[in-house]
Amino acid sequence: MMHATSNQFRANANAGLANPTLQSALAKMKVGFPTKRAEAVAKLPEFDALRDRARDIKNHVLENIDWYLERFEQRVTEAGGHVHWARTPEEARQIVLDICQRLGARSVTKGKSMIAEEIGLNAYLESHAIEPVETDLGEYIIQLRNEAPSHIIAPAVHLTKDAIEADFRRAHTHLDARRDLTEPQTLVAEARGILRQRYFQADVGITGANFLIAETGSSVIVTNEGNGDLTQLLPKAHVVLASLEKIVPTLEDASAILRVLGRSATGQEMSVYTTFSTGPRRPGDLDGPGEYHVVLLDNGRSALLGTEFQEILRCIRCGACMNHCPVYGAVGGHAYGWVYPGPMGAVLTPSLIGVENAKPLPNASTFCGKCESVCPMRIPLPKMMRHYRAREWQRDLTPRGARIGLGIWAWFAKRPPLYHFMASTAMAALGWLGRKHGSFFNLPLAGGWTATREFPAPQGKTFQELWWEKQRAKGRS
Ligand code: SF4
Repeated sequence: MMHATSNQFRANANAGLANPTLQSALAKMKVGFPTKRAEAVAKLPEFDALRDRARDIKNHVLENIDWYLERFEQRVTEAGGHVHWARTPEEARQIVLDICQRLGARSVTKGKSMIAEEIGLNAYLESHAIEPVETDLGEYIIQLRNEAPSHIIAPAVHLTKDAIEADFRRAHTHLDARRDLTEPQTLVAEARGILRQRYFQADVGITGANFLIAETGSSVIVTNEGNGDLTQLLPKAHVVLASLEKIVPTLEDASAILRVLGRSATGQEMSVYTTFSTGPRRPGDLDGPGEYHVVLLDNGRSALLGTEFQEILRCIRCGACMNHCPVYGAVGGHAYGWVYPGPMGAVLTPSLIGVENAKPLPNASTFCGKCESVCPMRIPLPKMMRHYRAREWQRDLTPRGARIGLGIWAWFAKRPPLYHFMASTAMAALGWLGRKHGSFFNLPLAGGWTATREFPAPQGKTFQELWWEKQRAKGRS
């Protein structure tokens, strides 16, 4: 399994905040993705109704997942393919390696797959003398840099065009040093030229899956580059890496969810390529792989069924929650320290690797609620982060300072008259102390805040005073 540095979130985040390339890339992302999504949603009046439908489809699947997975396996087998069940990343890697070694594979092409990241597939294949070649442009770039993706749909979103030009010049030394790489088009053309040969050399093609369809035994991928199609059509075998919850009952259901996926992810009505694959090449087919394998990974997901975290299994990996998250937008995806960043990562990461290995993540949120409001699958992300905070508290994982602070707060909160007296006295004192400048530039116990911005001095009445005034006014009317 990919090594996690999620417990070093604070240090990772500070590194992100101090990285000018990342900050410049994030500034563009924060405007681009949300604007495109908003435009696409505005053009589809039934978008919210589709979200309800998508949520209901997945809820139904999760209640009956065993039945749908077995039906899927039966259909894959009937179409001439194979389903392999993997409980752990180790089992999944071994299954892929066995297929590659049986076919004598020296090189494999890969479409974008978060499951491949989750199981640490590339390093494992390399350690067995098999070369993995990423064919998604973003994945190809980060493979050159030996980095992990920083976003689930845009793996290289943390980089600028200039940084990518430098990487290409460093990696593609056989090409003319005087070539022009200043435009995105020239960078894409160069990557395409190099990857084209790799497709023909590959013995096995590995892709992820956006959906698995129980009624037909098909896997579905959506891409904007067509790289997934070449990856899976040309080699001797196509291996699909998918987690259990990717299953949907019918083609109709997949189509309904596809309508919210593209709009939520990139603001497109549909991604450029939506590819359905069913079994290996049949007699008479012009192309297609000789073998078709689906590796179904659990890795802790079935343990979430029936718990307060089951709803995260509805996630379709659109990325909207991170595109709108103020924390992700400030620190970038690498700060989260494992495969899945942003709000969905703040829930999925502790679910899969244990909350003790991802303690800061459920706390890396302002709870503004934007993630839930844009999620096409209506996943209550803040609620689940709160559940993880509660678990951390129960298991004594909350940092000592926070425990003491919350303990003191709870002592006062259980004595409302004393609490109100202390709160209004403290607010009045702060208001008086800050009357000259209107803000504090340095405040004990709030150093994290005042280190980078001013703390406004309280003005006027407290919330409680206003609340009671309103209640009294209501009582009189
Ligand atoms: S949690 Fe929702 S918004 Fe975030 S990636 Fe998953 S489906 Fe998209």
